[in-house]
Amino acid sequence: MKRVADVVIVGGGCMGASVAYHLARLGVTDVVLLEREKMLATGSTGRNAGGVRHQFSNEANIKLSIESIGLLERFAGEVGHPIDFHQDGYLFLLSTPESVQTFKRNVALQRRLGVAVDWLDPREAAALVTGLNTDGALAATFCQKDGIADPNGVTMGFAKTAQSLGVTIERDVEVTGITVTGGRIAAVETSRGTIETRTVVNAAGPYARSIGRMAGASVPVDPIRRHIFIAAPAAGQPVFAGVPASHIMVIDFETTFYFHREGAGLLFGMGERHEQPTFDTTVQWDFLPQVIDVAVTRLPALAEASISHAWAGLYEMSPDGNPILGPADGIEGLFLINGFSGHGFQHSPAAGRILADVIAGRDPHFDLTPFAANRFALQAAAPGERYVV
Ligand SMILES: Cc1cc2nc3c(=O)[nH]c(=O)nc-3n(C[C@H](O)[C@H](O)[C@H](O)COP(=O)(O)OP(=O)(O)OC[C@H]3O[C@@H](n4cnc5c(N)ncnc54)[C@H](O)[C@@H]3O)c2cc1C
Repeated sequence: MKRVADVVIVGGGCMGASVAYHLARLGVTDVVLLEREKMLATGSTGRNAGGVRHQFSNEANIKLSIESIGLLERFAGEVGHPIDFHQDGYLFLLSTPESVQTFKRNVALQRRLGVAVDWLDPREAAALVTGLNTDGALAATFCQKDGIADPNGVTMGFAKTAQSLGVTIERDVEVTGITVTGGRIAAVETSRGTIETRTVVNAAGPYARSIGRMAGASVPVDPIRRHIFIAAPAAGQPVFAGVPASHIMVIDFETTFYFHREGAGLLFGMGERHEQPTFDTTVQWDFLPQVIDVAVTRLPALAEASISHAWAGLYEMSPDGNPILGPADGIEGLFLINGFSGHGFQHSPAAGRILADVIAGRDPHFDLTPFAANRFALQAAAPGERYVV
């Protein structure tokens, strides 16, 4: 393993791979990416729903989406890897007057930033998705350019191209410590020895807090478990009976129940409001009946579904639902790309580009104030992200 590097990236999920790729594109190739698992993208990145949307409540997040979706549209040609990107849209169903008011404000903001979002009545929403029950919904929003992509494809595309440009990727290596001398990064300790470096990128997803702690930096990220269930086609049937023809993502905003087509089946999930921070990713099968209770009111076909499998992964929650992106507070040479609060896959293209620019000393042309690491200590956090699903 290399013993000296300009940059060490901790974590081989979509964030670490994106930073590696964008650094390499800038000519910064004396970079080592360290992943403790035997494969890349087995953490949150490998467990996510693949959703990609412009529809956020926060201006900075909408800008991340515009840039990221632009790169996802060009990914196969520019990065050079297939990512199975379907822009069949996101449909948000709204059932309370408060949500309608909030979304009206946010749709105005999204449109001001150039995003084409439609305001629909429940009848129009139902017409978009066969089998969808919109009873009780007051309104809906739809953005055709939102969609679904393959998180593994995006991560491997970034990683392989970074490698081909000279970046070193080491799997099965755990970061165990970070040496800071005189307030600046000096080395990274690993299960396979020390790497001297002056720059460390914390891309450890739900484990960001512990990597920060190794360097003496506060990174307020908590791991929150989220489940995904897959409904399979009935025996002898080619597809699950309730599956939409397209890959449209449907989100019932009030309950956070969501679903989209996944192959011949249906992928669905829902937030658990009372989940406490945990690193445990064991599937809680007793949560499934709660999800189904809510789910059948929107997609009655789920009442008859057989659930073929399920998994749980970790959201990396920040206190305000916004990412922590940029230099760490008080430790020179430590950079953070953390706390994406359940929507990081889709923002990894832009977030990696921005952080690579900052590390390389270039102007990222992006106002990082809402994502600054010191906003919590200064109690200067702007209103956070409302669309955490
Ligand atoms: C169920 C679920 C559904 C989701 N759905 C969506 C969605 O639809 N759209 C979306 O945009 N986002 C979604 N997300 C969120 C998204 O998956 C995350 O925001 C994103 O994957 C974070 O990427 P990451 O690279 O920061 O973290 P990870 O993918 O977790 O990568 C971090 C890596 O760091 C490694 N690591 C940790 N500690 C060490 C160490 N000490 N030494 C070496 N390596 C270490 C880990 O092994 C891991 O591979 C979902 C998440 C979950 C759990």
